[in-house]
Amino acid sequence: MQTTGAPAHNWAGNITFGAARLHRPTSIDELRRLVAGAERAHVLGSGHSFNLIADTVGDLIRVDRLPRRVEIDRDRRTVTLGAGLRYGELAAELHAAGFALGNLASLPHISIAGSVATGTHGSGNERPGLASAVRAMEFVGPDGGLHTVDAESDPERFPGAVVHLGALGVVTALTLEIEPTFEVAQWVYTGVPLDAVAAHYPEISASAYSVSVFTDWHGGEATVVLKRRVDREDAGQPGERFFGGTPATEPWHPIPGMPATFCTRQGGVPGPWHERLPHFRAEFTPSGGEELQSELFLPRERATEAIAALREIAAEFAGVLQTAEIRTIAADELWLSPAQGRDSVAFHFTWIKDETAVLPVLAAVESRLLPLGARPHWGKLTGAAPATVVERFPGFADFRRLAASLDPDGCFRNAFLDALFDAAP
Ligand SMILES: Cc1cc2nc3c(=O)[nH]c(=O)nc-3n(C[C@H](O)[C@H](O)[C@H](O)COP(=O)(O)OP(=O)(O)OC[C@H]3O[C@@H](n4cnc5c(N)ncnc54)[C@H](O)[C@@H]3O)c2cc1C
Repeated sequence: MQTTGAPAHNWAGNITFGAARLHRPTSIDELRRLVAGAERAHVLGSGHSFNLIADTVGDLIRVDRLPRRVEIDRDRRTVTLGAGLRYGELAAELHAAGFALGNLASLPHISIAGSVATGTHGSGNERPGLASAVRAMEFVGPDGGLHTVDAESDPERFPGAVVHLGALGVVTALTLEIEPTFEVAQWVYTGVPLDAVAAHYPEISASAYSVSVFTDWHGGEATVVLKRRVDREDAGQPGERFFGGTPATEPWHPIPGMPATFCTRQGGVPGPWHERLPHFRAEFTPSGGEELQSELFLPRERATEAIAALREIAAEFAGVLQTAEIRTIAADELWLSPAQGRDSVAFHFTWIKDETAVLPVLAAVESRLLPLGARPHWGKLTGAAPATVVERFPGFADFRRLAASLDPDGCFRNAFLDALFDAAP
């Protein structure tokens, strides 16, 4: 096991963890002994969250040195994987074996366990968040015991345990549902008037397997990225014009000025699901963390109102925005999923890396979207009070009880969780 005393930073560098030590166990037994002996512990995944969710005052643990596991069950259509894996590390192997995941987030470099823990999502009217693929989860509890929670044998606790914010223990393995591999063709349309996006968002978001709308909110235009499944949809060019926009004539990057070589292949060239569904290629690090992010999930029927509200205040935040993205997520029943119980639309913001400049405008954005029922992303920045956040998750009080039953002495609690748990009814 590697143990260092050095403080760890998140990917964006806006968070320095307060942990006393950072450990990277190399076996499950080593991990179990470590956790059993720890007063306070928390897992750090790939560190892509923008807040203190992964922090602890005690022992920070990374599971990326545990023995690698990728076990495909062809009959059950599942893959069981070690929790240290990143999506990009799993995807090519799954594809080579003839399988796929139903969806991916924008970046393949994020860890699977960390993404599941925070309710991370991609886009698609019919595509729920990535945690919806989980069928079972293996984790080490505070006493060092190894537990499994399974959708079939534990239907009561399972929907509460999957999106867990790191509060239940150290996840060592996940079993995900898989499907036969498929190909996707990605088309980019620039110059779509924001007026058209506002007037036709339901049709736009329904026009491909996965749709992302990018805009700076200020210039009156958007770029629409369509990811079409070759086996289900017409993979040809969706049209010479798309809601007033035209096909991009060259490769395009969501952040103006950034090289499009970092982006997955566009121009309608079909390719494997894992080389088209993320916006960014696995083989490049798209940026060195020079950004901050926030995101709010709303009931999908509020999309038009939310677009109008953001356009009204765009001048206030345009100066600190690098890009913004609108995506859709299908409803699920995971207690802490941001799309729990409602088909959702998510408004994402990539800000410049300057919290002093960003926090006031984030407050302005949230003052417009929280009244429309917005739920903040667990892994991104928000200025919403913990009480405001938890009241938006009907299952939060049950989740607090579940966490207390599995971790009665609060080994995995941290300041981020304490604030939420104290605010829960
Ligand atoms: C460039 C970039 C692009 C992004 N794109 C998207 C996107 O497209 N969609 C989206 O929804 N989000 C996106 N995010 C947000 C990101 O998906 C979440 O922050 C996610 O949690 C990152 O995973 P991680 O492993 O880095 O988590 P971390 O930040 O390391 O940890 C998050 C939480 O997961 C817990 N955790 C991690 N591993 C384990 C484990 N093994 N056992 C127990 N708990 C664990 C941690 O304890 C912590 O509570 C993006 C972030 C960045 C920086």
